[in-house]
Amino acid sequence: MTEANGSLPSISDADFALTSKGMSGAERTAALKKLKDYLGYYRDNFLGYQVNQDLRSVAADLPELLKVHSNNIGDPFTDSNLMTHTKPLERAVLAYYAELWGAEPYRNTSANDPEELETAWGYVLSMGSSEGNVYGLLNARDYLTGKYLLARPHTLPDGSVSGVPKVSLAQAEPPKDNPNAHSPVIFFSHDTHYSVAKAAHTLNIPSFGEVGNRRYKADAQRVMGTGTWPKEVPSTGGDAGPGTIDVDKLVKAVDFFGGKGHPVVLVLNLGSTFKGAYDDVEGVLKRLGPVFTEHGMNERTVEQEDGTTDRRNAYWIHVDGALGANYLPFLRMAQDQKLVAREPRVPAFDFRLSNPGIHSIVSSGHKYPGSPWPCGVFMTRRKYQLQPPPLPAYVGSPDTTFAGSRNGFSAAVLWNFFAQHSYADQVTMVVRCHDTAVRTAEALRKVDEKLRAHGKEGLDVELSPHSLSVRFRMPAAKYVRKYSLANVAIATGHDTVKHYSHLFTMPHVTDALIKELVADLMREDAFPQEAEYQLEQAHLVTDMSVADADLSEVVAVAMDRGFA
Ligand SMILES: *Cc1c(COP(=O)(O)O)cnc(C)c1O
Repeated sequence: MTEANGSLPSISDADFALTSKGMSGAERTAALKKLKDYLGYYRDNFLGYQVNQDLRSVAADLPELLKVHSNNIGDPFTDSNLMTHTKPLERAVLAYYAELWGAEPYRNTSANDPEELETAWGYVLSMGSSEGNVYGLLNARDYLTGKYLLARPHTLPDGSVSGVPKVSLAQAEPPKDNPNAHSPVIFFSHDTHYSVAKAAHTLNIPSFGEVGNRRYKADAQRVMGTGTWPKEVPSTGGDAGPGTIDVDKLVKAVDFFGGKGHPVVLVLNLGSTFKGAYDDVEGVLKRLGPVFTEHGMNERTVEQEDGTTDRRNAYWIHVDGALGANYLPFLRMAQDQKLVAREPRVPAFDFRLSNPGIHSIVSSGHKYPGSPWPCGVFMTRRKYQLQPPPLPAYVGSPDTTFAGSRNGFSAAVLWNFFAQHSYADQVTMVVRCHDTAVRTAEALRKVDEKLRAHGKEGLDVELSPHSLSVRFRMPAAKYVRKYSLANVAIATGHDTVKHYSHLFTMPHVTDALIKELVADLMREDAFPQEAEYQLEQAHLVTDMSVADADLSEVVAVAMDRGFA
């Protein structure tokens, strides 16, 4: 679609307002046409967010699924009485991911086979990674706070005892010698997605900073080198750094809280939201291993009411791999095949790691490989799950997932992609995305040089290693909208911020689209005057009604959260 009168396509409430009379056929057709043209334009120019907009095979292969309500309610590994489900496809997708992430696919043949407890359990999310982060942290909390499922004989109203016991969630007492044994604290970096902080808040898992400032204030200076405990683990090099977690600071803080007897929840990022940075999961775990051992955190006993015991780690490592967990395995294969630079090595991050290993991973299916709506995959090992709560009888499948109803379509979308694209195809696809990111950064650096040669401010182009996210100075609003660019204000001093945009070279991004962006960024009107930025900054502060708070902190916390 061409731009009308040089302005960008838009839709308004008036175009779609509903009345008690409904719309005439002609009005409705016109409104839907407007919607189609609008979405089509912005899909074709889409650069700012890490989602794949190439969905042609979904439209071509799966239209029949639009004519049925499919619902995978309940546990993926138990079929329910709701027959319009796609659970065999969901289980195929889960087995595929288990193998991709180095775990044995789900197996459950007998109740007490310890090897089966090592196998993977997971499900296809109805939301994206936000749901998986909540669910991962819910599992982490219940595991680390000493929750367990207690089965009691179930006496029926007629006095007989049911064959199915009554199961309830019970709470173990911490051992006498460690009153903190069931009081976990959570660690995540400054560059972590806001859904993690929200999940921790929802689930009442305090951050190490909250607990530190409440109970161990005097130690902050010695451990962290700051007067108070920070809310989040600092990122390496601060806002100007690559966006990875500061491992030295993390290790010091974990050592301190482990020494006080607290269990630890740690969230690591595989593709931080804004900078696309990868935490070195393997390297972090290597550093934390001796700390966990020193504080006796590898195995702690949870003593249950009936005297039985359960042995658990006193830590839970959750990998937020919203984007990275889906395509880094293929980038690693590309490194093995010398198709992309072998250094720095893409970090190992999955269930292959051990002692200490990871407990859960989440990824968003709509980011990669792509889906018309949010979806994703959550995965853990069976041994980290509490046994499923009682069966809601009318559904006939254990209630192990976060949502009730789960759409059956997402599993089919993921299944269709993996059935269509071999590992080799996906290696080719991610190499293309990777090379597009490198070429885009090069092209934008040339724009940067030209701007500077004309005495103007440069673009400050950045591309973290093996990231698909290219960061550059934010252009004028019309270009931000044209390409759906995601933006962030980064504090560069006490009261100065710089505005950046980023783009992601997802599979749908073509060289032609990058060329168009480069041409736009060379235009006279591409970069507004400094005064305009100042104005926007003022609006930002007013909007947030925090005029008297420290601007750099407010801006960093509120804006450095990226996705949407
Ligand atoms: C996008 C993203 C999320 C949230 O995923 P949704 O699919 O939007 O729920 C979480 N973490 C990271 C690192 C992300 O990039």
